[in-house]
Amino acid sequence: MPQYLSTREEGFDARFTDLLGMKREDSPDVDAVVAEIIADVRTRGDAALIELTERFDRFSLTPESLAFTPEEIAAEIAKVPDAERAALELAAERIRAYHARQMPEDQRWSDASGAELGWRWGPVSAAGLYVPGGLASYPSSVLMNAIPAKVAGVERLVVVCPTPGGVVNPLVLLAAQIAGVDTVYRVGGAQAIAALAYGTQTIAPVDKITGPGNAFVAAAKRRVFGRVGIDMIAGPSEILVIADGTGDPDWIALDLMSQAEHDESAQAILITTDAEFGQAVARAVEARLETLERRAIAGVSWRDFGAVIVVRDLDEAAELSNRVAPEHLELCVADPDALSEKITHAGAIFLGAYTPEAIGDYVGGPNHVLPTARSARFSSGLSVLDFLKRTTLAKMSPGALRAIGPAAECLAISESLEAHGLSVRARLDALNEGEE
Ligand code: NAD
Repeated sequence: MPQYLSTREEGFDARFTDLLGMKREDSPDVDAVVAEIIADVRTRGDAALIELTERFDRFSLTPESLAFTPEEIAAEIAKVPDAERAALELAAERIRAYHARQMPEDQRWSDASGAELGWRWGPVSAAGLYVPGGLASYPSSVLMNAIPAKVAGVERLVVVCPTPGGVVNPLVLLAAQIAGVDTVYRVGGAQAIAALAYGTQTIAPVDKITGPGNAFVAAAKRRVFGRVGIDMIAGPSEILVIADGTGDPDWIALDLMSQAEHDESAQAILITTDAEFGQAVARAVEARLETLERRAIAGVSWRDFGAVIVVRDLDEAAELSNRVAPEHLELCVADPDALSEKITHAGAIFLGAYTPEAIGDYVGGPNHVLPTARSARFSSGLSVLDFLKRTTLAKMSPGALRAIGPAAECLAISESLEAHGLSVRARLDALNEGEE
């Protein structure tokens, strides 16, 4: 049974705080193993990659077969049915168009002192995308990670993907091709992350690593951070639906289950102003859990982490939702735009009855790589900005240096950084001499 809470009940705050603090993820201590794997790949390069792939993915590689050849890719892609190809192409087009609008503009201006200031954006040179192997490989995630990198102008974009027993999902290769990925390597786990960060004889290092993976992949990303940039460490999926009772309970039940079916640790929460509607949704969930293919996973998630919360009004709903800071937030209410104004923390908002969260997973356009575990309080979903860096620009005219240089000199002296102060003073003196 999911939890039933009502803001009218005594003790609500304590129960809601417990719900927020629930530990949903077992994080096995894999750090020592991962540290060893990374050290091995740093020392032995390809040889370590090949050995580790043999051990974990039961698959023999040579340095020459680490990457898929164009012929192998073509043969795999030929297996993809037309409908799936067309759907991926539509998704790619929409994701590209959405992310193109995220490109920020360079700025350059002169201020009152005569100083020219500004900044300029530029892409990272190379990015590596981790694509989980086995059943958990999602072609949609390939598009969501690779397209923003391409839009940002990343020159070299590679994918690493384990192929247990040598088997690859052809849709992953097709998605990589559609997104413009340059090379796909058949390696996974911590060893693939190490190869991307440090490079091997065959795999050139990248500057930024993105993409989801299991505990080994997450621990490796944490460890190589600093050597390279990483996107985020994604936790189990979450959905929060705010409903005022105007919608169809079954639609909302399906939306809740769409996240619950990801993972037993996923969390689905309904907040509603209408207690009876809340009961109707809960009944619809139970009915769906009789037949859904992934009912075992979704059922555990709903039972252990699901919740139905009845509130007095939509203001209260927004306030609670902001405390949750959910990854996905659906506003199934009569005026979703008005309610959206009150939302301060959410990874992605889906407005109105005709916007199931699943649209955002695939074809809406916005990115589906989103902050989980309440991190929407301080971070955002993957975007073009994750693949860009901002370089600041400053150009002093003699007049500008005269105007603001003495203050820099003063602060340098107060920080006992003599050369700093002198570097300004030398120029100011030269300017003053030139004037005499
Ligand atoms: P994976 O590619 O993440 O990991 C497989 C690799 O793990 C293997 O190649 C191996 O190198 C390594 N490994 C396995 N056991 C090991 C051991 N004992 N010691 C050292 N290394 C070992 O694929 P997976 O395991 O199927 O996991 C996929 C993960 O990705 C899941 O946790 C899933 O929830 C997550 N995922 C998340 C999203 C998302 O968007 N958040 C999307 C897809 C998948």
